[in-house]
Amino acid sequence: MGSSKLVDWSPGKAREEERLSLNVWVDNAKKRVVLAEASSDFINVLFSFLTLPLGTIIKLLSKNSGLGSIDNLYDSIEKLDDQYWQTKACSNMLLSPRNAAEKYCEHLKLNVDGDNNPREFYYCKMERCISHSKYYFSSVRDTICHYCGEVMDEVELWEKVEIIENDEVFVKKNNVKYIITDDFHVKPYSMSYYYDMLKDSGVEDLYLMEVRTIEFGREELLNLLKKLLEGKEVLTKICFPDLCIRSTTPIYYDEMEIKIFEREDNAQFETSTLQITLFLNITNNNVVCAELKEDLANQLFSFLTFPLGSVLGLIDFSNFLGCMPNLYNSIQELKIDCFTSEEAKSMLISPQLPPFSGYNKQMLNIQEHPPYVVNRINIFKEGLGESYSSEIDPKLPMTDIDSNDGFVGTQSFVVTDDFHFTPMSSLSFTQIKEMLGLRIDHLEKRKMSIGKAQVLNLLRAMLVSKTVLSDALFHCAKQVK
Ligand SMILES: [Zn+2]
Repeated sequence: MGSSKLVDWSPGKAREEERLSLNVWVDNAKKRVVLAEASSDFINVLFSFLTLPLGTIIKLLSKNSGLGSIDNLYDSIEKLDDQYWQTKACSNMLLSPRNAAEKYCEHLKLNVDGDNNPREFYYCKMERCISHSKYYFSSVRDTICHYCGEVMDEVELWEKVEIIENDEVFVKKNNVKYIITDDFHVKPYSMSYYYDMLKDSGVEDLYLMEVRTIEFGREELLNLLKKLLEGKEVLTKICFPDLCIRSTTPIYYDEMEIKIFEREDNAQFETSTLQITLFLNITNNNVVCAELKEDLANQLFSFLTFPLGSVLGLIDFSNFLGCMPNLYNSIQELKIDCFTSEEAKSMLISPQLPPFSGYNKQMLNIQEHPPYVVNRINIFKEGLGESYSSEIDPKLPMTDIDSNDGFVGTQSFVVTDDFHFTPMSSLSFTQIKEMLGLRIDHLEKRKMSIGKAQVLNLLRAMLVSKTVLSDALFHCAKQVK
């Protein structure tokens, strides 16, 4: 075997930051990576990708994730004026969603979301607000103080929690090494697995293999995240960037599969109440656009708060989202004694939403962490006082505690097939004309109900398709008379 060689795949990187390394076994003759050996530090960072909310992934990848049409949803939300939101904090909750595992992730050697989303909380510094026996705080910027109605703009950092020893975050250290395949199946190191991997990949002579070291800083990690979502053979692409590897992402068209899935689901869940009006192009069987109310918009907007691991647990993505399904399945198959706790494992395969992050009427029902309560001592003019603090729902406007607890207020939206949302009231005649874009006798209007199965279809199509409404709803719409 040759000597270890460093793979430089990001010129101009900052030298001061913490870096991780990964040893890869390269078959130079076939120009591919056979396997990689990773430390638990690297594995912890890799696994933490599953705790990232979808909105965070889009933000980290600068709306350039290439995943279906979700970049467009993010962009629409970014462009939505303050007047459409229930509170100013609502858009922050979708564009910079909190991560329920952030208290774990801040112990990672490299936290891909650490700079973007520091673990802060906000409170109101007005003395008359602090002096109440109950004291409010929020993890979301721009949340309104329920006592005075002003933005809670005093910022503090959470103390690091001492649940993690020796940098053991999700998996234990124990000097265990892990083997990663080119498609990111992850298994603990064993001679028998080495043998299987080498045999399966047709390696005959180990002396022709070279070991290289790939170094990861934050920038390279982001690049890895993007590559993992895009396709397979990720390590080969990193080591041989000039090599043209055929795209492994199939075109999204599996109407049959959706139909089967829908039948099962409809029987299982309550009939829906949400309505959508679709405009179909009957000449090419596409959905041109659709009109919907805030209840459905809130359902769909809240997709951005979903952690990647929850989404992979909800939907079988087998041929989509690159290597992420392999990574998810590997974690599921790893024995519990590899992990620091059962909680650590479930944070990866069924991550919760942070308190108040979700939409209360979200049909896909991702579990939400209960609100945090903190005891704290305040210093008043009169002396010391003890109060308990409780987290408040950033979606609630102060005056309207029991209002609809969605992100956007009463408002109709128009959504295009590629998941661009525009408030109905802001559309001009020209925009409507452009959107419908063809002769009115080629269009058909269909009203349909949206239930859990359709919401799941929309979530899936949003992540894999550029024609979300057509793929998720067209065949259902045609059945509606
Ligand atoms: Zn206040």
